[in-house]
Amino acid sequence: MAFAITQTCCSDATCVSVCPVNCIHPTPDEPDFGTTEMLYVDPASCIDCGACADACPVDAIFPADLLTGSLEVYAGINAEYYAGREVVSSADPAPNFHRWSPPTFDRAIPSDFAPPDIAVVGSGPAGMYAVEDLLLHTNARVTLIDRQPVTGGLIRYGVAPDHQATKRIAETFSRLQEHPRLRLTLGTEVGRDVTVDELAGRHDAVVYAVGASSARGLGLDGEDLPGSVAATTVVGWYNGHPDVPANVVDLSAERVVLIGTGNVALDVARILTADPETLTGTTIAPHALECLRTSKIREVVLLARRGPEDAAYTSPELLALAARADVPFIVDDADPRTTAAIDAGTGKAKLLRELGRETVDWTAPPDADRRRIVLRFHSAPTGFIGDTQVRGLRVTGQDGQTEIATGQVVRAVGYRGVPVPGLPFDDDRGTIPNTAGRVEGTAGAYVVGWIKRGPSGGIGANRTCAKETVATLLEDIISGQLPVRTRRSPIAALAARFRG
Ligand SMILES: Cc1cc2nc3c(=O)[nH]c(=O)nc-3n(C[C@H](O)[C@H](O)[C@H](O)COP(=O)(O)OP(=O)(O)OC[C@H]3O[C@@H](n4cnc5c(N)ncnc54)[C@H](O)[C@@H]3O)c2cc1C
Ligand code: SF4
Ligand code: SF4
Repeated sequence: MAFAITQTCCSDATCVSVCPVNCIHPTPDEPDFGTTEMLYVDPASCIDCGACADACPVDAIFPADLLTGSLEVYAGINAEYYAGREVVSSADPAPNFHRWSPPTFDRAIPSDFAPPDIAVVGSGPAGMYAVEDLLLHTNARVTLIDRQPVTGGLIRYGVAPDHQATKRIAETFSRLQEHPRLRLTLGTEVGRDVTVDELAGRHDAVVYAVGASSARGLGLDGEDLPGSVAATTVVGWYNGHPDVPANVVDLSAERVVLIGTGNVALDVARILTADPETLTGTTIAPHALECLRTSKIREVVLLARRGPEDAAYTSPELLALAARADVPFIVDDADPRTTAAIDAGTGKAKLLRELGRETVDWTAPPDADRRRIVLRFHSAPTGFIGDTQVRGLRVTGQDGQTEIATGQVVRAVGYRGVPVPGLPFDDDRGTIPNTAGRVEGTAGAYVVGWIKRGPSGGIGANRTCAKETVATLLEDIISGQLPVRTRRSPIAALAARFRG
């Protein structure tokens, strides 16, 4: 029986390199890799060796026949990825559709170059993958800087507390902190405690991995009223982020409307409707757990601008939410386009086939006897109702204007990068303009992760992103394009003279 990859997969591709028969796809050099929601094991080729399960940093891989509960569907999901794909003849020593291609990035510094001094700013996944690449594949000395007193970025302060397996990837990164060529400087913010110019003066190159920490706005009047809060704040609140006050979230409303249906919105919906006892013993902030114990929330509404076929969430996250037996999860079927897409099984709409449907009366308060989650599609928010406190939200859709009575709106429409003083900034995209990681117009500065490519992609996507940035940086060292030319050690210079 084959192994299968399941819900917590963050697509970091660690398993790909250990599989002896190359049956985990898409690999980083295959076209699907940039858009895939997870990786999949080909059950026809898997030889059941278990090497991938041992290597996976987030415990996502199990023998398919041992999957139970909400993970049972993943045997089929893995197999489905391979349905209809070309399989090379069984006479091939590794019968599969994929053949290894040469590595895309060259990451070697010639031996007569002295170790470069490189600063990496930000200890989230992108910064840590860059650090890993630099320490394991070059002789660089690395200074890792973060404004927070602990490392991890969004692994610590973003990933939901009920995703402890995902948070475990921090253990993989923490071993790098013991590396003899790494110096760790925590509690130091670039732009406040040290300037971009000062850092550049002390290092041969600086890699900025500062993420995207602010919230995108809706541009609607009233979005800053009490009773309207950004998902970035709620996420920081339940994860105990040092910048987010303990009393900033109020759970006294019976109905909470979440604007957005990305994975962050699903995280917030799950935590706000969770039985608090299931969160004890996790990394949830104590103040958030206490607040959840006295929460008045009966209903969480997830509002999507588009239809169910184009929903922003990934399939594993939706399946995990739908599989929860304790909290009913239904679709508001007022708009006929919603039901038509679900019945036709178009795109992601097929994930909703098993959910209940109801035409919700939004003027009535939620049912007092049970807690539930409602998905409403084709609904764009057009205005907040209330003068001193949110009392409702106006939305438009095919059924015209609807007013949803609510005392709490959570805006989950995306994260956004913030400028680093001294570096260029693209205000439209919320990123630092760059070419393959090289900051435009600022020699010696590089970017990686969400500040480089925008706030999308899971933890694993930052690995290939870091690979590209480190390759660019090394290319610049070797070609002499860095303004502070790496100094050659006297011994290496002598050795080079003898060779010459
Ligand atoms: C709420 C949420 C939940 C998520 N859950 C998952 C999940 O379950 N699975 C998954 O695969 N992916 C998940 N992701 C995506 C994943 O977290 C991101 O892909 C990843 O964190 C981006 O990495 P980053 O290093 O670019 O940014 P970050 O993780 O944000 O790291 C940026 C770091 O830079 C530091 N920093 C910022 N500015 C400065 C400065 N001026 N000076 C010094 N330090 C600075 C910050 O303190 C931070 O440590 C989630 C994302 C969010 C928002
Ligand atoms: S169990 Fe072995 S053969 Fe199967 S996918 Fe994992 S590493 Fe590959
Ligand atoms: S998290 Fe990484 S190692 Fe684990 S299954 Fe996904 S790609 Fe493979």
